[in-house]
Amino acid sequence: MPNFQLPYFDPISSDKKILYKNARIIDPKSGYDQFGELLTIGNKIADFGSKLDAADAEIIDCGGNILAPGLIDIQVHFRYPGQTHKEDLTSGSMSAVAGGVTTVVCQPNTSPTIDSAEVLNDIHETARRMAHCNILAYACVTKNMKGEELADLPALKNAGAVGFTDDGLPVMNAQLMRRAFENSRDLGVVIAQHAEDLNLTNKGCINEGEVSRKLGVRGIPNISESVIVERDLAILEAVGGRYHLLHVSTREALDVIKRAKDKGLQATVEVCPHHFLLTDEQILKSGTNAKMNPPLRSEKDRAALIEGLRSGLIDAISTDHAPHDVASKEKNLQEASFGIVGVETMLPLSLMLYHQKILSLKDLLAKMTCNAAKIINFDGGEIKKGARADLTLIDLNHEWVIDPQKFYSKSKNSPFGGFEVKGRATMTVVGGKVVFKI
Ligand SMILES: [Zn+2]
Repeated sequence: MPNFQLPYFDPISSDKKILYKNARIIDPKSGYDQFGELLTIGNKIADFGSKLDAADAEIIDCGGNILAPGLIDIQVHFRYPGQTHKEDLTSGSMSAVAGGVTTVVCQPNTSPTIDSAEVLNDIHETARRMAHCNILAYACVTKNMKGEELADLPALKNAGAVGFTDDGLPVMNAQLMRRAFENSRDLGVVIAQHAEDLNLTNKGCINEGEVSRKLGVRGIPNISESVIVERDLAILEAVGGRYHLLHVSTREALDVIKRAKDKGLQATVEVCPHHFLLTDEQILKSGTNAKMNPPLRSEKDRAALIEGLRSGLIDAISTDHAPHDVASKEKNLQEASFGIVGVETMLPLSLMLYHQKILSLKDLLAKMTCNAAKIINFDGGEIKKGARADLTLIDLNHEWVIDPQKFYSKSKNSPFGGFEVKGRATMTVVGGKVVFKI
């Protein structure tokens, strides 16, 4: 049984030294990739190199495995507050660190929503007592995510919001989006959009295409994503600020992002493993466990996402970890809840891109470390002297089969059960403390 520790409720003493020996140390930001040793003192990285002098340190032998900056998942739903029967900050963060993830960004579609400093402060305080990883959060763009009135974005930024989104819902009102970008420009934080034109989506439940026609269910067309991205980037260009497209699923939206980047606009984009590994055909096998929003798309879209990852157009990989209880999923396709769990399988699923020679290890890890950190202005995701000691030890060659029943998440809704994968996190360090080890 793996051992889980709490990094902040019971922090490591500030003079404790740990020497990680026999590791392949990879820092995607600097490009450093060498066999050697890394020393932490308290919650900081003190030094790293081929051979270190640290006689009084505790020794951890890394067995030749990869020691990387702790992974960052910039889109999770840990369901606190409001739906803790599906997930809470303890179970969600156990799932995270078991997957090598040391920092997560929670989405604000909780109950109550994260539209006030009180709710955000409560999440941060609860995380210090109960969470195994760093818990960050986006706050709402609009009050109670209703899309009617802007939330108090400066106050929320002061309370530690890493950006703003109404994720789960798009900001449909263009005037509010304009005001949001003005705040983004003045506050220096990102507006993250769940891009979906609700009129075009029209209560669809899966991708509009052959599978939706075969099953006789309402489809969600690709343009429901891309028209919102087009609009958002037109506003961004006029107003300034910074834009981040959450969980891209279509080739059309990627094209729009490419044009914006070519123009020099401050736009970034993330993709989830399910969108670059699966197509809507998966619904025929996994049913409602392959239902999420945005939906799994066509092979043409999947291929475009892979090319976007390869070329560097796609900045980051996130999971949109969305736990649901059995009752929420044991319904027909139209009625079942959207979403799948993912934080525990982000690393092994993404490593397929490395094993299939689509991305180098450094470029792949960058999308889950330094690139992700940059989007949310997070001081982490890299290995350097003085940096926070958040680390992930990765065994690249460990072959295993995904079994959702073994997830530490309270919920098991994943279409990846039975998938054969290669590689996993074998040890996770948060704030200098080993918080997970197998
Ligand atoms: Zn979303």
